[in-house]
Amino acid sequence: MEDLFKTEISALLGGEISCECGKQHHTNARVRKGKFTEEIGKLAAKYAPLSSAVFVSSRGFFLERGGEVLRAVRSGGSDAVNVVLSRRFDNALENLGGLLSLPESMRLVVVCESELYDAAAYFSALKGIPLAYAALSPEAEGVLSPVVTLKIKNKPERLYADNPRFLIADEDKLAAAPKESVAAAFASLASHIVSLVDYRVRGVLTGDFCRASYNLARSAVSDSVNAVYAENAALRLLENRIRMAAAEIFTDGAVSCGGENAAAELLESCGKSRLSAAERKFFASVILIDLYAAYFSAPHELLCVPDYGARAEELAAYTGYGEGEILKNMLACAPLAREEKLAPHIRQLAEETETLRGWMPKIAATYLNLGGRDIFRNFTYAELVRAVCRAPDLPGAFSVLTLMRESGALELLEAENAKISF
Ligand SMILES: [Zn+2]
Repeated sequence: MEDLFKTEISALLGGEISCECGKQHHTNARVRKGKFTEEIGKLAAKYAPLSSAVFVSSRGFFLERGGEVLRAVRSGGSDAVNVVLSRRFDNALENLGGLLSLPESMRLVVVCESELYDAAAYFSALKGIPLAYAALSPEAEGVLSPVVTLKIKNKPERLYADNPRFLIADEDKLAAAPKESVAAAFASLASHIVSLVDYRVRGVLTGDFCRASYNLARSAVSDSVNAVYAENAALRLLENRIRMAAAEIFTDGAVSCGGENAAAELLESCGKSRLSAAERKFFASVILIDLYAAYFSAPHELLCVPDYGARAEELAAYTGYGEGEILKNMLACAPLAREEKLAPHIRQLAEETETLRGWMPKIAATYLNLGGRDIFRNFTYAELVRAVCRAPDLPGAFSVLTLMRESGALELLEAENAKISF
């Protein structure tokens, strides 16, 4: 089978891939290398001549480099419109106002900060116009992903993005990226370990599985463990992020739809200090991979039947979701949780989960060595258990946590926690 990890990135994103899974994979995402201002100028000339290009930035970035970017946009013959957003999009109502009142002549969206990528990507996908993201640091959580999520009024809104998306890799800027951004980029890639297990499990249960994409995503994670110590670490991590994005596009996002996403979402309002989405996802994946490994390693019987109504009511009480919406999702996912269908594959699944789990101690140590924040003591045990036990109820994809809920394992975990709390 063709090893997509060895395929040139330009061919991975630019070509048509006839895959063994039976699908033709192609993407609407491209990578350009070069000085970011020059590349922005070229994209403005191509997509927005005599019309508007919107530059989305934070106030800090605008003061530092805004002039440079606006000049680059104008060099392409475009009218440059600047929208200043707060990096914490969901807590700032002016953000929505700023993005919803963009000029009708807008033909290109430009963004240079990974924290604002989602907001820029969401609105460019909504309008169906090209997006140019200049990667000045290797942090690129969700970059080029086909599913764009934006939290609007406390609730994640998801959109499928198939508009042209460009990633500009400025090698000089990447070489000068701060060490913490390398740690964050590494953690973000490593979080995918849990999603990999979930993708495989869903593959067995639904038959929808692309092995080439799975291997591509898996190699992107394993290569990153060594890449962080290379001289051009930032560029190599960014390339692995692009490979991850390719695997996401080939699978319509399924390769990244793991239980760590929901757990991270529920941890947002908890903890001693507020962590970024990437940090929460990384923390959740460190915890969940152990839990997944435990689930697959021990045979078990049905422990109890979940009370869907009570679960939906409780979750609705402290999230932005409606009870009906939660219940609908639970009832859609529950029939997939067929342990007997997994039985013939359980040994293989247990082995692969154990292998991935084996990477984790080195991954966690590498993250801390790189100067990553110590996020491992940020949450209390009770906060963690609540997030993990409620995660499968959030509207989203089926995961191993759904299996654990259906078998009663999560209810048991929660009951144990209640005993500890009293
Ligand atoms: Zn495929």
